[in-house]
Amino acid sequence: MKNFLLGLASIGLLSVMSSGAEAAACMKVTLTGTQGGPPVFMGQAGAGTLVQFGDDSKGCNFVNLQFDTGRGTTQRLSQSGVPVGKLNAIFLTHMHSDHTEGLTDMMQLRWHFNSGGPKVDLVCSDDSKSPLGHTLSCRKYAQHIGDALINSGEMAQRLAENKKRLPGGPADLINTKTFPQADEPTMVWSYGNVKVYAINSRHIPGHASYRVDTPAGSVVIGGDAGNDAPKPPRASSTSAQVEKLAMGADIIVHSTIHPVMGPDKDSGFPPPIYYRQSTATDLGSMALRTGAKHLMLTHLIPPMNAKRQGPYPIPGGGLSEDDYKQAVSDGGFAGNTVVGTDLVSVQLP
Ligand SMILES: [Zn+2]
Repeated sequence: MKNFLLGLASIGLLSVMSSGAEAAACMKVTLTGTQGGPPVFMGQAGAGTLVQFGDDSKGCNFVNLQFDTGRGTTQRLSQSGVPVGKLNAIFLTHMHSDHTEGLTDMMQLRWHFNSGGPKVDLVCSDDSKSPLGHTLSCRKYAQHIGDALINSGEMAQRLAENKKRLPGGPADLINTKTFPQADEPTMVWSYGNVKVYAINSRHIPGHASYRVDTPAGSVVIGGDAGNDAPKPPRASSTSAQVEKLAMGADIIVHSTIHPVMGPDKDSGFPPPIYYRQSTATDLGSMALRTGAKHLMLTHLIPPMNAKRQGPYPIPGGGLSEDDYKQAVSDGGFAGNTVVGTDLVSVQLP
């Protein structure tokens, strides 16, 4: 309780709590999108997780953090009662469109109605050079977020209508905070007792996984992390760095591939893409080892009940929720497994 009150005091929340009510700190984790990869299926939004911290009696929404911003994030946030203008910070795991493409929409909306600020922190890795010669750059992504709208002439037209708007467009509202890749958990953002740590993990260059610690609990967002060894033989498809980050965390949110997509089955799914994700079974084993209470599977490949993942047929037809739960329990995890659907949430304590 003492830590909690200190946390609230340090972020100014004590002053906004009604007198007489017992302060009840809470952390709420909501999947804003559960689609795995670039395909579309039944209107699912692209990958994203909303982490909120606050007072249970006030909607648990004093601090609002968005991790990844796939297609449709704005809509899911509106269904969660969180306008994009109320996000304190946005964190990106990596520069793949299924995790980033919603940001343009979010920032344009914020520019439209909240152009006076405040800016939103965009937290992500430093530029990362691939051994193949190209560079992944979250910094440039943010810098050019409004370029298509600037080049179409829309921004000039809207600025002419309302001169109070920031002249550079939505990029002017982003406060980009990049961090160097590290193999140990490193604090990259904080607000009072809400602390966010990052660790380098493998999927593509610059991929990062995050952990949020709050007085009400902790959550790890693994992103699309896979094991550093790009293919078998290896002890697990999961990331050793994510496991380190997740030690003792209450909730793990992680992208998931079902073993049915493996090269030993006949989906035709490309093995290198299969191997750079974590399987549901290995995530169950990892959650058991780290002592997690809740494992939230997201970015499901394939989506539940889908007959195909993009062009690849699912061997045996669509998978059910039970198929995913079975794969997790095969890994030994006996805690609460949430097979992700858009807007499902877990609240602590
Ligand atoms: Zn992805």
